[in-house]
Amino acid sequence: MNEAELVLTHVLNCDRLSLYLNKDSSLSKDKAQAVSSILKRRMLGEPVQYILGHTEFMGLSFNVDKRVLIPRPETEILVQSAIEELKNIKNPRVLDIGTGSGCIAVSLAKNIPNSRITAIDISFKALEVAKDNAKLNQIQSVQIKFIQSDLFSGIGNQKFDLIISNPPYVSNQEVNAKATELSFEPALALEAGFDGLDFYRRIIIQADSRLATGGFLAFEVGINQACKVRDLLKAEEKFDFIKIIKDYNYIQRVIIAKKRI
Ligand code: GLN
Repeated sequence: MNEAELVLTHVLNCDRLSLYLNKDSSLSKDKAQAVSSILKRRMLGEPVQYILGHTEFMGLSFNVDKRVLIPRPETEILVQSAIEELKNIKNPRVLDIGTGSGCIAVSLAKNIPNSRITAIDISFKALEVAKDNAKLNQIQSVQIKFIQSDLFSGIGNQKFDLIISNPPYVSNQEVNAKATELSFEPALALEAGFDGLDFYRRIIIQADSRLATGGFLAFEVGINQACKVRDLLKAEEKFDFIKIIKDYNYIQRVIIAKKRI
């Protein structure tokens, strides 16, 4: 749906098709006022997803507000690629690092019912949103465990079949360039040092000891980062079958590696 459709279906509490089937009816005064107050916020640059309080990801509904990064469509490619890799593993154990809204953990849980997921975030506020989203999507609390943790520090020494992450990856320089576009979202979910690779470095160094034999590491990466992250993985000498997958805009967006056996 485009933004106008999102706003109108939200205010009128109807689906997209009804907008067009009833296109000759006019808006009541209070509905028109609701639309106009949404537009005022939108014109100040606030993302439509925050104004409406929800968004869609992998065909599921997620609540979002300023405590979490808004799920992006390209992150669906990360989730779909991970589902593909896990299809031959019976009861996969997954670690989602920096879960934010929970969109990755919840959509993996929905698509792989026999998976067991640990979803971590350093932000307690983000975890509150993620837990609500798990409930909203009827995920049993045994399937996803939410833990406040700075990377691996708070999760004991269990091993996983998949470590997945869309970590902060915006470089200091880009933070300034994208200041207006990203100013509504939490800096904690976006900023990642001088070259945007801080979190990949930190995760890659520790990932090998946290992965089960033959386990996978799957990352979303920013523009022009895929080859650099591949070099980091190669330098670690513990990963094979490194794959890079493009997004809908033909940008190298996802990188997956398998722990060397
Ligand atoms: N996709 C976001 C952006 O650049 C960044 C998300 C992230 O840092 N993981 O707009």
